[in-house]
Amino acid sequence: MIEIKGLRKAYGAFEVLHNLDLSVKKGEVVCIIGPSGSGKSTLIRCINLLEKYQGGQIHVEGAPVGPDKVSPKTHRKLGMVFQSFNLFPHLTALQNVALGPIRVRKIPKSEAHENGRALLKRVGLETHASKYPSQLSGGQQQRVAIARALAMEPQVLLFDEPTSALDPEMVGEVLSVIQALAHTGVTMVIVTHEMSFARTVSDRVIFMDGGVVVEQAAPDEFFTKPMMQRTKDFLNAVR
Ligand code: ATP
Ligand code: MG
Repeated sequence: MIEIKGLRKAYGAFEVLHNLDLSVKKGEVVCIIGPSGSGKSTLIRCINLLEKYQGGQIHVEGAPVGPDKVSPKTHRKLGMVFQSFNLFPHLTALQNVALGPIRVRKIPKSEAHENGRALLKRVGLETHASKYPSQLSGGQQQRVAIARALAMEPQVLLFDEPTSALDPEMVGEVLSVIQALAHTGVTMVIVTHEMSFARTVSDRVIFMDGGVVVEQAAPDEFFTKPMMQRTKDFLNAVR
């Protein structure tokens, strides 16, 4: 589904990703963890075309992904949920969710709104459809952002620390929405600092440090029997 080979990304002279390899199977749920500055967001942003990269290849379902080489068809397969929600402040929850389908997928407005309501229901917000982002809590805004990503019917959902901007009491509601989406067929790549969530939700945990994948394993194995010293040090520091 996602094949990354030899990915190199630098900001000026400073190389952040060094020949990074990673593959994610269709329908798989992977969590990426690692210290601050290890390149997790940069990796996600390269997959989602938000960054140019200097070397290597990214393929999604066999099609090349990168600025200049991606087709709109491939780009539409990718949905992204950011740390900071990024909702349009002047649009209601429902309008935020329906905008992409109307503008990009060319779906009639009535149908897009009907689908949008169903998606808001799925994230537990059916009674909040006509509220503006400023009238919603952080957790609710993030759930709208998830519904908005789903409205584009992506095949891959990328999350970059979806709960780290939330007050602690709102983390759970967002994680349970993400948990409910796991194993519904959509491929998910989730950067998170929530170790217990990573352990329950993922098929595989990827540990990044210094711009490379240091270690990856099924969650139970990863958390109980890490192989690399860098992984052990990280887990000891966050536990
Ligand atoms: P965190 O857990 O804190 O979110 P991260 O693993 O997501 O960290 P990145 O945001 O990918 O880390 O950053 C990796 C490195 O690239 C860092 O050293 C960062 O300072 C640098 N970096 C990120 N974005 C830019 C940019 N736009 N310009 C220059 N350097 C950048
Ligand atoms: Mg980051």
